[in-house]
Amino acid sequence: MAVNDRKAAIIGCGFVGASIAFRFLQQGLFSRLVLIDANRDKAEGEAMDLSDGLPYGAAMEITAGTYDDISDCGLVVITAGVNQKPGETRLQLIERNAAIMGSIMGEITARPFQGILLIVSNPVDVLTYTAQALSGYPRERVIGSGTVLDTGRLKQLLGEELSVDSRNVHAFIVGEHGDSELAVWSGANVSGLNLDDFCRLRDQEIHQPARERIYREIRDSAQQIICRKGATYYGIAMAVGRIAACIVRDEHAVLPISVVLEGEYGLDGVALSIPSIVGRNGLEKILEIPLGEEEGAALRRSAGQLREVIQGLKL
Ligand code: NAD
Repeated sequence: MAVNDRKAAIIGCGFVGASIAFRFLQQGLFSRLVLIDANRDKAEGEAMDLSDGLPYGAAMEITAGTYDDISDCGLVVITAGVNQKPGETRLQLIERNAAIMGSIMGEITARPFQGILLIVSNPVDVLTYTAQALSGYPRERVIGSGTVLDTGRLKQLLGEELSVDSRNVHAFIVGEHGDSELAVWSGANVSGLNLDDFCRLRDQEIHQPARERIYREIRDSAQQIICRKGATYYGIAMAVGRIAACIVRDEHAVLPISVVLEGEYGLDGVALSIPSIVGRNGLEKILEIPLGEEEGAALRRSAGQLREVIQGLKL
């Protein structure tokens, strides 16, 4: 069956899935959007509500559907699963969400689906690995939203700290989208100038305590939001919209998506968020960026933690 690049499906229409659908409606990337949820009424209600906004958004059709509707989709986004409660880590969601991912993969692989799977449910790196292993699809077609959101937060906070437009800040959060993630300070730059050189030009300094404060703010951001409003969804919806745009427009953009590693950085048997080139075919190329000694060690520790969780799943 031919792939329709302009048709997408979202599986799981809770806070995150519905917010992504709203973002897609605003972006005008797709002409068909199918919403699937274990709770059919929820998917139907969201499709009806979103469709009311169509006269003020892009020309597209939004319907509640079934797995038969995904066969010709270019992109399927998976957000089904339970979310974190205050004080709960992403890794603590694993058993419930791995079981849900298993049932969804059974449905998808029973259809002639040839498009890209974009995993958003948490713990996103472990579930990206699970989805790729259970589907048997090439790793290029199974990617996770990874630390695209966290990296956006890093750019924003660094921009504020340095009083410069965050779009001129280039820096990455890599590793787990979770508590063991790390900021790659050694490669951070403002329009090509490394942080120290940029600060010198501005008579500024960005001390270690400031770096640590920014890192903690990013790492703990989801918990801070969950403590106040119960869930996070707008930020991730914007991040997923960005990844979807890279795929639909074949942008070859560099984003820290979650990818299954096969020897890169000396790691395998795990999915991690790593800067990668993203285009029409999903993952195009994993970039092995230079890391400082401590950064390399932190990436290996992060991988080790995730690998342990994956091995516990006995896929
Ligand atoms: P939610 O409870 O609001 O929605 C989950 C939805 O999944 C519900 O509508 C439920 O009916 C549906 N669902 C459950 N099992 C299903 C199945 N087998 N098939 C189809 N649908 C099913 O939760 P939420 O706040 O939308 O969060 C969803 C997931 O996204 C969580 O795992 C959360 O941790 C994750 N999340 C990820 C990021 C990220 O950066 N990757 C950010 C925020 C949330």
